[in-house]
Amino acid sequence: MKVLKFGGTSVANANNIEKVLEIISSYSEDIVVVVSAFSGVTDTLLHIGRLAAQGDESYKDLLDELENKHLSAIKSLIPVQKQSHALSYVKSELNKLETLYEGTYLVNELSPKTEAVISGYGELLSSYIIGESARSKGLNVINKDTRELIQTTLLFGKTVVDFDVTNANCSSFFKESTAKITLLPGFVASDKDGVPTTLGRGGSDYTAAILAGALRVDALEIWTDVSGMYTANPNLVKQAMPINNISYQEAMELSHFGAKVLYAPTIHPALQQNIPIWIKNTFKPNKTGTCITNESDEEQAVKGISHIENIALLTLQGSGMVGFPGYSKRLLEVLSNEGINIIMITQASSEQSICIGIDSSESEKAKTLIDQTFEYEISIKRLDPVNLEKDLAIIALVGDKMKSHQGISGKMFSALGNNNINVKAIAQGASEKNITAVINKKDIKKALNTLHERFFEANIKQLNLFITGVGNVGSKLIDQIQSQTDYLKDHLSLSIRVAGISNSKKMVFDEKGIDLTIWKDLLEKGENAETNAFLRTVKSMNIRNSIFVDNTASEKIAQVYEHYLENNIGVVTCNKIACADQLLHYKKLKKLSRDFGVPFLFETNVGAGLPIIDTLNNLIASGDKVHTIQAVLSGSLNFIFNNFDNKNSFHDVVLEAQKQGFTEPDPKIDLSGVDVARKILILARESGNDIELEDIENESFMPKECLETADNDAFFKSLITHKAHFNSIYEKASKENARIKYVAQFKDGKASVGLQYIPEGHDFYNLEGSDNIVLFYTDRYVNQPLIVKGAGAGAEVTASGIFADIIRIGKR
Ligand code: ADP
Ligand code: ASP
Ligand code: MG
Repeated sequence: MKVLKFGGTSVANANNIEKVLEIISSYSEDIVVVVSAFSGVTDTLLHIGRLAAQGDESYKDLLDELENKHLSAIKSLIPVQKQSHALSYVKSELNKLETLYEGTYLVNELSPKTEAVISGYGELLSSYIIGESARSKGLNVINKDTRELIQTTLLFGKTVVDFDVTNANCSSFFKESTAKITLLPGFVASDKDGVPTTLGRGGSDYTAAILAGALRVDALEIWTDVSGMYTANPNLVKQAMPINNISYQEAMELSHFGAKVLYAPTIHPALQQNIPIWIKNTFKPNKTGTCITNESDEEQAVKGISHIENIALLTLQGSGMVGFPGYSKRLLEVLSNEGINIIMITQASSEQSICIGIDSSESEKAKTLIDQTFEYEISIKRLDPVNLEKDLAIIALVGDKMKSHQGISGKMFSALGNNNINVKAIAQGASEKNITAVINKKDIKKALNTLHERFFEANIKQLNLFITGVGNVGSKLIDQIQSQTDYLKDHLSLSIRVAGISNSKKMVFDEKGIDLTIWKDLLEKGENAETNAFLRTVKSMNIRNSIFVDNTASEKIAQVYEHYLENNIGVVTCNKIACADQLLHYKKLKKLSRDFGVPFLFETNVGAGLPIIDTLNNLIASGDKVHTIQAVLSGSLNFIFNNFDNKNSFHDVVLEAQKQGFTEPDPKIDLSGVDVARKILILARESGNDIELEDIENESFMPKECLETADNDAFFKSLITHKAHFNSIYEKASKENARIKYVAQFKDGKASVGLQYIPEGHDFYNLEGSDNIVLFYTDRYVNQPLIVKGAGAGAEVTASGIFADIIRIGKR
């Protein structure tokens, strides 16, 4: 014999009930079938009760809807000629229910007894309708009212099952019964006087387990809407997967800490008789599901992660606690006497505080009770009044084998810490089957996903990118990400998701990842863009491993980096403004990055995709000291002076450089030398020198008038006006047989930038196209410098440099 229980979604409507009937008709042995109310009905019954008690007449409309729901199920499930009996029975039951609500409405009160009667109607109606429907299909089914079998009693104010009476009732009933299928309502029971009671919300699972235990069946099957007990709530963690085998203890811990798929008390009756519990999916009956037994046969230390929302933390503390025994006893007693359920408890070993986690709805009452209990101690300042914190959640790692694996809590808390998830309290059961942390409610989803990734997706790390700026560089970056997705997964175990995109006009977000094949259309249809609104959304999305990517040259955007870093959101940028800003700002960002352990990478600030900053950082980290840096760092100026001759005018060459994306949007930034000055400034700072942009000597080769133009048009015109000036530069070089390079230098703490005429044979002489070159002279590279050389400008290489920074973060 087996006991099967079908939950609310499994019997939500006629369609689903057909599936249930198909499943139960496939069994060859005798079965006991327990059903829940149709999905949502128990909630509605209670809601109507509360409305009636408040004198709100709208309860009647909801009652009508409830009636329609049940009558329409009958009409779909039972052939017309057999419907009338069922319809009139259900109507008469609903009339009784209506009378109860009318009474509630008139006396303005919903007593616990009436509430118990009302809330059980959902199961009474669903079991009746499903039974009639099964019989109309020729199945050998009888209905039995569970209230005649399961008897409850009160223990310390809580309704508990009287197992002696219940087991005896079950044995004698089933001994006599010859039905192949016995169908019963879940959730409902009665006390010894026959007054209806219930087994608590989600209690139909428990009904099934009580029957399974009483009848010592071969298996208890909980049929629901998911394919088993998952490694985490599948609604919140997309990557969660069903657990194949799990022990009673583990299942108990997971359900106690919020895995709603199984009502926690269910496990006890099954465990006592060693009856396996299967969790199966009504809508995918072929899926294996989860098997809960005595054994946890897998080597996986952490089996699942669960959580409870709406937790409040009550802390009782005070210097007077030390050495005076009995505080905990009095605290726990007063809560237990009032039936307040304690979900977790921790006590610091200094004995100066006790911290308990309870459901938020009971927290005010609990605080008052505790403050009253310790009124005297509080009045003489031996204790502080209870400190109450709300809007919290509990998150728990569960696994029988955790005790034999070291470092699990270390991993747990470092993963949470790295994602800026503040842990308010920690508890670890002495049996080490669970580690529990109290966190802010707003962080639940991020925390669950972070821990899931850490413990179950060991190899795959997911990065969530928020990209701002999708011009030349940004759109190339998106192309590169798109084409590398599979490679990164297969070779580096990195999954990269773009969760936000913005240009100067629009922004679009998608937590599940923006479809990169149509990102342009999605962006166009997005909301209006604004720097701070983008930041606010990224913060509120609160996803793990978030990285803000700045592909702009915007000053305003550079000013908000600190807010990303403070919120543990990494920053990758090709925008030089932040690192070349006031020393104080640069240092602040570097410090935030260190303090919060969050990446701030800007490799592309110097030499686009060339590994210049990374090389420099590695030199310094390994103990080297940089003395001199000589470099040609402007891809655009290099391109310009490599192409400028007596055939191609300066104006034409600059225009061409702009067209090919080698210049900043405002070419003056390149031609004035400011861009190169910023780059050498960043290299000097990264080498450990406190230096400001104003400290850099910059002898411009450009006529002042050109640099003072208001826009690009005027600027290009001025290049024509000053043609003779530029030609004279070319002529001088050609006379000396030299090549013109815009050189940056840092030596003995001083930096300078300016045009130089480079003679043949010099390292810089043969620098072609838009190439960059950097020579580092250090303690270790004394005569022969360490040289980094290659293409130092262009959208494609800059995008690849940004991508490399992102990958660097992924590999951390
Ligand atoms: P039923 O109505 O069948 O009793 P419940 O709604 O009570 O079903 O429980 C099933 C639901 O539990 C799932 O749809 C899922 O949303 C939720 N759930 C929460 N945590 C877990 C978990 N760890 N594994 C599976 N389901 C979970
Ligand atoms: N119908 C009850 C509830 O919603 C019991 C159950 O479905 O398990 O709580
Ligand atoms: Mg349930």
